[in-house]
Amino acid sequence: AEIVLGVRDLRVSYYTPRGPVRAVNGVSFTLRRGEAFGLVGESGSGKSTIALSLLQLIKPPGRIEGGQALLDGKDILSLSEEEMRRLRLAEIALITQGAMNSLNPVMRIRDQIIDAWRDHGEPVNCREAEDRIRDLLRWVGLRPEVARMYPHELSGGMKQRAVIAIAISMRPKVIIADEPTSALDVVVQRQIMQTLRRIQRELGAAVILIGHDMGLMAQFVDRLGVMYAGKVVEVSPVRDIFKDPLHPYTQLLIASLPSLARKGQLQGIPGLPPSLLSPPPGCPFHPRCPFVMDRCRVAVPLLELKRPNRLVACHLYERDEEQA
Ligand code: SF4
Ligand code: MG
Repeated sequence: AEIVLGVRDLRVSYYTPRGPVRAVNGVSFTLRRGEAFGLVGESGSGKSTIALSLLQLIKPPGRIEGGQALLDGKDILSLSEEEMRRLRLAEIALITQGAMNSLNPVMRIRDQIIDAWRDHGEPVNCREAEDRIRDLLRWVGLRPEVARMYPHELSGGMKQRAVIAIAISMRPKVIIADEPTSALDVVVQRQIMQTLRRIQRELGAAVILIGHDMGLMAQFVDRLGVMYAGKVVEVSPVRDIFKDPLHPYTQLLIASLPSLARKGQLQGIPGLPPSLLSPPPGCPFHPRCPFVMDRCRVAVPLLELKRPNRLVACHLYERDEEQA
């Protein structure tokens, strides 16, 4: 399928008094038009930093050190602030965990939607706007009356739906959803994920779902990228990851899931993730890896095609020369 977003060797550091923390350390992945792609990893593995980088929302002491992110061929990491501001919502939108708290408490939902449009240079004709807002709300499963309500009149789930309505109001090609439902209870979570999936399909937008819940990933995404210590260590179709995980870290993740029917949180792997202030040489997973070999301690494994459709960064696998 056609690639809508290509991230190449993205590097982001946070400058702390103790030295630079390499939060995202050479991450590459591609997003195909209209697909649901997951990024899963423990907290601190760099997932949210990737999301913020792609919208140029990294604040000092954080800094994008290098890399590219080609959105339909245009490098969005090198856009000016003004260019990026126009691109947000129009082409790429971010929904975060706490997004529902980002709604303005003293503004009606309709005014916040109109504000977002004005901010992005979308001409707003008042009569037309009412119809558009009604359609938009219906699309995310909200009644038309919600347009006239204030955030405090809405439940958490309704607020998150309103946030999604704003995010999709300009029909972006790419939606990044960073733990979009983790502040909500499980039933509401599921309903909102279903809404997001339906919208994604109807809109034909590609979604990057970021999180640590493998159960949610299994239900929602087509392909999954597994992150460890600021790197992507495996990218595979989600079914293959569950059936036949290739990277030793992914294997431990899958083995640690209590049952796929229950919501699996990432935990129960012996040892701690490395300090990103002084990451270990070679493979970042080598201090915890049950299969560690001598070369793992010195040579960084590259994320390469090791099986059809499967990228893995691990010395255990030979490169798939026929595919590559
Ligand atoms: Fe383990 Fe070596 Fe593979 Fe790293 S490269 S995951 S240490 S086998
Ligand atoms: Mg996060």
